[in-house]
Amino acid sequence: MYMKKLVTFITGIFMSFQSIFANDVVTTSTEIKTPVTTQAPIENELVITAEEIKTLKIDSNTKKQGDFFYVTLSGFKETPTLWFNTTEYPCFEIIENQTSTVESVRNQKQIFRAFIPVENMTKPGIYSILAKSGDWEKKESVTILDNNKPISRITLSDSKSQIYATEKELDIVGSSLKTLSNKKLWNGKFVYPSSARKSSPFGVKRSYNGGPVDSYHKGLDFAANQGAPVTAPCDGKVVAIGKVEDGFNVHGNTVILDHGHGVTSIYMHLSKINVTKAQDVKVGEKIGEVGHTGISSGPHLHWGVYLSGISTDPEQFVKNSID
Ligand SMILES: [Zn+2]
Repeated sequence: MYMKKLVTFITGIFMSFQSIFANDVVTTSTEIKTPVTTQAPIENELVITAEEIKTLKIDSNTKKQGDFFYVTLSGFKETPTLWFNTTEYPCFEIIENQTSTVESVRNQKQIFRAFIPVENMTKPGIYSILAKSGDWEKKESVTILDNNKPISRITLSDSKSQIYATEKELDIVGSSLKTLSNKKLWNGKFVYPSSARKSSPFGVKRSYNGGPVDSYHKGLDFAANQGAPVTAPCDGKVVAIGKVEDGFNVHGNTVILDHGHGVTSIYMHLSKINVTKAQDVKVGEKIGEVGHTGISSGPHLHWGVYLSGISTDPEQFVKNSID
């Protein structure tokens, strides 16, 4: 249908050029006996609306556990709905030309972006990504591979295994990491929040005290000294502060930042917090100091990056510019 319209359109343009030249230039030619004088049918054929070219684009159809899909949806007037393996994920509008007028931006509301996190314990296999908008729908088959992260068998001492997270702690952390805000606050690559040596990567699978391998390391650790600065990896807004005295038994003193478009980050086991809730922070700004509060074997920084509440490998945001 689109091709047919395109051909008609191109033919139309050619005919309209013939028409112009027939009238203005080639008037002396005896070859042209019936000049084209009307363009009305061509205008009718030009009604190609954005509604007819909706697309779903995925950065890659193959990902590993702990990665995420970068999904672009173009040609929509309304926010499309997106699912990965039956779970719905939010789409955020991208306004490409920030200098456009209000009216033109309103008319350009056609490109949406979504991050689909691949949870670290997702069973390797074939899954699908499905997008819908009105009568339109598109399904893409995707493959999830094992990230082959090692398994760490941890034995907690009696005193440590008897420390439990409080309900308040779990509520605040869980809801804050699921923050979905429309304004994207970061630009380009993230910067590591600590200059110390990295001590434990994201995704190492864990078994506690001989139990099943049902959890994993949800962030990246830095072997930083007590009191070392912890800085914001990119611009953001403080969405939550947690303190040991308020029941943060496991996470310890904690800062959670919102970066927009479903991207959040967490900083745990701090000895000191330098920011307050709802404060805006800039990349490189000090937000706290390294400590070993909560369940922690010694001073270190635990840094987690979450997409729609699911932890993903923070290295992806440091090594790639994700805009
Ligand atoms: Zn950690």
